[in-house]
This record gives sequence, C-alpha cells and structure tokens, in this order.
Amino acid sequence: MNLGPIGYAVGVDLGGTKTAAGLIAADGAVLLRKEAPTPAADGPGAVLATVIGLAAEVIAAAPSALTGDAPLIGVGIGAAGVVDPRTRSVLSATDTLPGWAGTRIGEEAERVLGVPVAVDNDVRAHAIGEARFGAGRGRSSVLLVAAGTGVGGALIVGGAPLVGATSAAGHFGHVPAVEAQGLPCTCGRQGHVETIAAGPAIHAAYLRRGGTAPVPDARAVFALAEAGDPLAISVVEIAGRALGRAIGGLLNALDPDVVVVGGGLSQTSELWWGPLREGVAAEAIDLVRDRPVVPAALGTAAALAGAGALAFDAAVAAAPPSSDPLHFSPTGARA
Ligand SMILES: [Zn+2]
Repeated sequence: MNLGPIGYAVGVDLGGTKTAAGLIAADGAVLLRKEAPTPAADGPGAVLATVIGLAAEVIAAAPSALTGDAPLIGVGIGAAGVVDPRTRSVLSATDTLPGWAGTRIGEEAERVLGVPVAVDNDVRAHAIGEARFGAGRGRSSVLLVAAGTGVGGALIVGGAPLVGATSAAGHFGHVPAVEAQGLPCTCGRQGHVETIAAGPAIHAAYLRRGGTAPVPDARAVFALAEAGDPLAISVVEIAGRALGRAIGGLLNALDPDVVVVGGGLSQTSELWWGPLREGVAAEAIDLVRDRPVVPAALGTAAALAGAGALAFDAAVAAAPPSSDPLHFSPTGARA
C-alpha cells in the first residue's frame, strides 16, 4: 500500500492491563500492530517506557508495511486516566495505574522518539476512531458510550471530542441512576450509573443479591444468564436498562446524530441489549426517540485508529498557514 506524501502515524492505546501500538494510515486502517502487557505495578516510568518502546518498534517495522517513502507524521497516544490533551499529561488516574497522575506523557515520548506526539485519553481516542472510521462514520455528531470495567465515553462533533474545561468531559458513568441508589461509587459519591451498569457492578450485584453459583467476574454472570439463571438474567437486565436510561438522558441533553455503544459489555447478547434499548426508549423525548443506538464496529482497532488520528490532527494544526491543511485531512470531510 502506497500512502504517498500523506504519510502515516503511530497510534498507541494504553490500557490498565494491555498496551497496543499500531501503524495507522490516514483512513484509519491499522497496518501493523504490536502489543505488550502494561507493567502497571512497576510504576509510571515502566508504563511510559512500554508505550515509547512499542511506538519505537512500530516505527522500526513500518518500512515492511509501507511502499514508497511515506513520512511519519507523528505519534498519537490514547492513555488511561484523565488526560489533558493541551499539556499532554495525566491529571488523575485510578488505582489501576498507581502513580500515573502527573506523568508528562507527551513531553517524554517526544524527547525519546524525536517526532511530534499528541496525547488524549483512551476513551476519547476510542470515540474518535469509531466516529471517523467505524459505526459513526459520515455522521457529524457521535456520542460514544463505552461500558466495560467502567462506564465512560465522549461526544465527538465534526471529528473532534468535547474535552471540557478541566479535561473531564465524558464521565458518563457518573450520572445518577435510580437503579443505583445508595451504591458507593469509585468517585466517592453514591448512586452513579457505573455502580450498577459496569462489568464489576454486574458481578457485585449478583453476589449482593444472593447468587450462590461460583462467579469470578461479570463474564461468568453473563454465562449463567445465557443458561437461564433467573438471578443472573435479572442482574444483567437491570444493568442494561440503567445504562439505557442514562443514554436516553444523554440523548435528550446532547442530541447527537448517532449513539455508538462500545466496550466489553457491548459484545454481549440481546439479554443486555434488549433492556438497554428499552431504557433508552423509556427516557428519550419524542424529538430524539428515533435516533440510532448501535454497537461499535471496530473493536480494539478503534482506539488505535483514533490515537493515530490525534497525530494527523496535530500535524494539521501545526502546519504553517502557507501549506494546504486539507492535504493532511484524515477524513477528507473538509475537502
Ligand atoms: Zn461516581
């Protein structure tokens, strides 16, 4: 594949357990991919070294995947934690990545790699990937809701995410849910939708409500539900409905063209999706009730493609006014 003068980017998806890096074309295609466990317990230095090491591996391997002399536009990193894309550093993080807060990802990666580095959080990278290249392709506004270990997401308008005044936009797991009343949330408050709808919450609800079958995690609860266990079915239904109602509320507030639902839970069955759709329908006002709510299309490639898009966008933003920025447009939307 000859990318010609447009060039390529390296996208990195840094999660709590796994880090992946890929060679990303301007159309979001992942041309090659490397991954490694995230050494979370070894501290932020080791985590960042893994990110930089994988990016360097992809850069070194790029010629084998490219023909011609396509230039490297830069590196885009979607990192776990609350990330400020303006300073390219981590503002806060959960216990999944001890000591991660304060890490100056962009500065350090740029120093070692010697190419421009753009940084945002992993969920926003995921959302950018789905919005531009996946289930939201061609839509001007996309609300991505990711439900897995936690619940989060991003609103993408014209290909760019809403970041927020404090870089906190997209904490959709921390909206109130009646189904979650009284349940303690990771944020220190109570009754947020994440405490009833996230994967660990589904597992906890099954145990809290007297489930006796041995279930190590949410996946096992889903397996029981598929097998007809009434308690597991009830727990899954309540989780799906609570998330659906939260999505309905977000639809009313934000009126996006499409809602894309991603994350591990979106890979489950109609046992979860059915109540989710019912929850959306119960809350969405008439004006937005026909808006499509669809599963994510790209899986784990979305965050890599979105991270790559961060690098392409940064190149456009950094281009001198005399050059033609449309030349670098990753979507062609403005051409
Ligand atoms: Zn919360």
